[in-house]
Amino acid sequence: MNKYKIAVLSGDGIGPEVMAEALKVLKRTEKIFNMKFDIRESRIGGAAIDEFGTPLPSETVDNALSSDAVLLGSIGGHKWDNLPPEEKPEIGGLLKLRKKMDLFANIRPVILYEKLKKFSPLSSDITNKKIDMVTVRELSSGIYFGQPKIITDNYATDTMIYHKEEVERIVEIAFKIAEKRSGKITSIDKANVLYSSMLWRKTVGNIHKKYKDIKLNHLYIDNAAMQMVLDPSQFDVLLTTNMFGDIISDESAAITGSLGMLPSASIGKKINLFEPAGGSAPDIAGKGIANPIAQILSTAMMFEYSFNKPDFSKKIFNSVKETLNAGIMTRDISKDDNYVSTSEMGDEIISRLS
Ligand code: NAD
Repeated sequence: MNKYKIAVLSGDGIGPEVMAEALKVLKRTEKIFNMKFDIRESRIGGAAIDEFGTPLPSETVDNALSSDAVLLGSIGGHKWDNLPPEEKPEIGGLLKLRKKMDLFANIRPVILYEKLKKFSPLSSDITNKKIDMVTVRELSSGIYFGQPKIITDNYATDTMIYHKEEVERIVEIAFKIAEKRSGKITSIDKANVLYSSMLWRKTVGNIHKKYKDIKLNHLYIDNAAMQMVLDPSQFDVLLTTNMFGDIISDESAAITGSLGMLPSASIGKKINLFEPAGGSAPDIAGKGIANPIAQILSTAMMFEYSFNKPDFSKKIFNSVKETLNAGIMTRDISKDDNYVSTSEMGDEIISRLS
């Protein structure tokens, strides 16, 4: 029997609520997939600041680095907004952990499910086509990490920098994903203005020579943002930099009707991390109405990307699809008062798993 050690970092806001559902799903999969999970929980973000005075305690890092995979909830909240940047949950917690784990690629699938089409902000002429795409975002470099970073009362600066090897490793991942999907990649940059994008485009072009069967096109980020609302069905694999990926993946997320639907996988050199695309949603935290689907699908991605069991991943994705097809919705994807709680949604998905 396969046994895996999973570090679970629930974090803040809705994090612990949606994580509880993901863990229920994991428990169930132990039986039906004949696997064993050793689950070890640690604090991160605001919860860690409150308990240990730091957003990323060394015990949390040790737990993550000695695991087979990391499941993260979400971090941050108004309570910690006014701390100095390096002590905040986002910068001192999540960005630091991503760096320590050397997570360099973020994979975010976006599917517009049939039953959710009516919740999409896009018109039915656009959503009646199949929308199923995945963003592959560079995660460990670019403007979020480039040095120097300076802030004074009078000016502030960030640095956008990419090295060829950083681009190459993520481009390889995107081409491999494209091979398993429809064989089409759109690389997004701003190569008409930014030097770092010129290097990006050249590197993508060079690696493309190895993947002759994959169709590649390049778009500037401004055009890509426009195309995303005009006709998202044209996209399959979107490959882009850290900041552009942050923005375009949230834009694609909006098409699905709720941030609560979107999972992600972050790929590291050794260990991968799985987390919802959305944040800690302080506006709904503690009310039992958060959508656990993003967290559950992030767990599903763990089976594919960390345990090499894509079939099990597919089974969980299918259970979610069946649950939605049965008209079972949480509040964020329901137009009336007829919705289920976070925990009921978890139960409904589990009931369709076997
Ligand atoms: P958010 O993603 O938390 O919320 C945006 C909107 O989406 C809110 O209306 C929220 O209710 C809704 N939403 C998000 N997830 C949902 C779910 N599972 N079910 C139902 N509705 C959901 O973004 P924000 O409000 O800009 O940020 C709140 C906090 O989260 C901030 O402190 C921010 O820094 C942090 N944040 C953390 C992460 C992360 O942990 N990876 C990512 C983004 C933001």
